[in-house]
Formats: sequence, structure tokens, C-alpha cells
Amino acid sequence: MSDTNPYIEGIYNYCDRWCERCKYTDRCFAFQKQLADGIDPLKKDYTPEETWAYVGKCFAEAMEMLRQYAEEQGIDFDNLPEVEEEPPSEKAARLQAEGRNVHIEYVKCARGFFEANETYFEEKGKASIEWVEMGITGQEETQSRWDRIVDQADVIKWYMFFIGAKMQRAAQGIDGMYDNTWESPEQSDANRTARILMVAIDRSIAAWRVMLHVFPEKEEAILQALSLLAKLRRMTEGAFPRWTEAGPDVEW
Ligand code: SF4
Repeated sequence: MSDTNPYIEGIYNYCDRWCERCKYTDRCFAFQKQLADGIDPLKKDYTPEETWAYVGKCFAEAMEMLRQYAEEQGIDFDNLPEVEEEPPSEKAARLQAEGRNVHIEYVKCARGFFEANETYFEEKGKASIEWVEMGITGQEETQSRWDRIVDQADVIKWYMFFIGAKMQRAAQGIDGMYDNTWESPEQSDANRTARILMVAIDRSIAAWRVMLHVFPEKEEAILQALSLLAKLRRMTEGAFPRWTEAGPDVEW
């Protein structure tokens, strides 16, 4: 970061997009740009029209930037040559396919857990209130226990689809890790993506462990979710053994 530039380069491409919980909002160009455009990234109730109007504006700006860049590089933006895309290597294709399959299983398992146990959670909640009313447990202690459970459920839900999307992006980029585009293979898009993917997997694992501790009677479903996450973790670490060296230089 230069003295005049407060932003961490590209941080918004390799984060978990959970701005409410991000400690780098003041150093994130994407976040600050939205604020400058009159959009509050933390506000959730924008109408679809407002959202699409903003997406359209960003898209138009991006196209303009691309045009300018093409002009500078002497590229005729309106007559781009046909480029034949190289098929992915066997390694990339395998990672994509296996990652997709395991992730689909994981989503089924995680969604199933919350859907199948809705009544169970309600009953547990009611029982907790009764315990407080009978003086068996304290209100504060019970409240903080439930806050923790809700927080961990939020973590699991936030990363549920994110993990699949990032796995695909990392796998797609694996063939280009050694391109000259990147400062080093560790700083390639694929390896940087793998880093946030590992963070998401590890946080999900930690959240499921809390669930297991609180609801041991739901062990079977929780262990299944944990084992699928462990598989995704092994696959990611196997393909990107140097993920810890990826930027940006922040602590997630
Ligand atoms: S870096 Fe932080 S503020 Fe910026 S998009 Fe990601 S989560 Fe949001």
C-alpha cells in the first residue's frame, strides 16, 4: 500500500463478501466505492429495481474502462479475434467435477439439517425458556448460548454456497497458476481463491463442531457434514498446498 492509497489491492476479489463482519471496510475499494455512489453495502432492503440500476451502472463503468484499456493497447474492441479456449487439464477437470459432487452432497446435508430440525430447534428454544422461568438456568447464560448457536448457524449458511463457487473458480484457474500474469504462482487468482476457500471451510468446520457440542443427539447428520467438509478441505489443500502464502496480506 502506498502512502496515498489507503486500499488493499484486490481485497474484494479474495474475501468472503461478508461486509458486516469485515474489519477492512475502510481499506476496501469496492466497499468505499459503493458508499461514494450512495449505496450502503450493509443495507439489505434495496428493491430489485434499485439493485439492478446499480449493477447496470457498474457494468457500464467496467465496459468503459475496458474500452479505454483496449484503445491504449491498440486493440479493436469491436472486432476482437476469435480465440479458441483451451480445454482444462485433467487435473483441473477432475478437481472441478469432484469438487462439484462433494459440494452438492454438502449442501443437501447442511440444508437438510436445518430444514429437518426446525421443530426440534423450536422445542429446544421453548425448553430453554422454561428452564429460565423455573430458575434452573440464568437468562443471560441462556441468551448467550442461543446467540452463539444462531451465530454459528449463520456461519454455516453464509458459506454453504460460497464454498462451491470458490472451489470452481480455484479449479478453473489451476492451469494458469504459472502464467506470467501473476507475480508468482502463490499470488495467482487460483491460489488466492483457494486461500479464502480454506478459510470458509475451516470456519464452517468450527461452526459444525459447536453444533455437535450443543446438539450431540444430532451427531449423525453433523458428522456427515463434517466429513464432507473434510473431503473438500483435503481436495483443496492437495491441489493448492501453498494456499497460506497467497495474498492479500490480511488476517481473515
Ligand atoms: S473486503 Fe470486506 S468490505 Fe470489501 S467486499 Fe470483502 S468483505 Fe466487503
